[in-house]
Amino acid sequence: MEEKTGAQVLISADPCFGACDLDVSLLSQVDLLFHFGHSQLEQTDLEKKVFFIETRSKADVGPAVTAALPLLPEKKIGILTTVQHVHQLDTVRRLLENAGKEVILSRGDNRIAYSGQVLGCNFSAARSCENSPDAKKCEAYLFIGSGRFHPIGIALSAQKKVVCADPFLSEAFELDFRKFLMQRSAVIGNSMEANLFGIIVSTKNGQCRKKLAKRLKQKAEEHGKKAVILQMDLVTPDQMLNFSVDAFVNTACPRLAVDDSGRYPVPVLTPQEFEIVLGERCWEDLVLDEILEGERE
Ligand code: SF4
Repeated sequence: MEEKTGAQVLISADPCFGACDLDVSLLSQVDLLFHFGHSQLEQTDLEKKVFFIETRSKADVGPAVTAALPLLPEKKIGILTTVQHVHQLDTVRRLLENAGKEVILSRGDNRIAYSGQVLGCNFSAARSCENSPDAKKCEAYLFIGSGRFHPIGIALSAQKKVVCADPFLSEAFELDFRKFLMQRSAVIGNSMEANLFGIIVSTKNGQCRKKLAKRLKQKAEEHGKKAVILQMDLVTPDQMLNFSVDAFVNTACPRLAVDDSGRYPVPVLTPQEFEIVLGERCWEDLVLDEILEGERE
């Protein structure tokens, strides 16, 4: 770019976790910022100078979807994936329809760029499958991608069976999230006697939920607990070691509480888990935390 345009290029050397995590400091110094690998979230003034360059996986979804078919005796299937496989959803649809299935493909809220796309913090496309005219007929979901975080979010959010087709391993399996629920139950159980909570707020552009943090602090106080709001940019176990609280409540990226749960000095709860600790939500209503359209502040 420097050779061809004469523009000066600065490369952000900070870690980046998603479109929620623009390098705001760099953005304030440049005319245009190219952000690689993620689709745009809902647009605010901040994104006006940002050009999102998505990346697509070359992995063939065919073998994984074929492996998933025996696990899907249901007729009406909702299909969901992450941004790197969205360009292959037509192929997935065709393979399922050739196997006699009816396919439901729905679009999530404005944080979601494509039909059928989910984020680790947004499963609204799964719920919109449920709310579409075809919803009552959607009997199971097929998730295309790797890892278990997204399918667990889909299963808890939509309360339906999820089959995962991993294009990188050309394998498929039916999601079993009992171990996940046991882990989260342990975190909730270990927080029941906590009196002082650290409520984490991230300053990252797409993760910042100050109003939610204030609401949670107020709830804590209504229940006779103490809570302090801790604002930080990058949330890491090392950062949290600096604070002596009985438990943390994370309002930043919802994956933080779950993915790194073994690395924190004290329990780290999601807002929904905190409500269970306070007795405001039933255990049966445990869902993954989401950041939905209009929630960032
Ligand atoms: S908040 Fe977390 S899950 Fe959501 S887009 Fe950012 S990194 Fe991904």
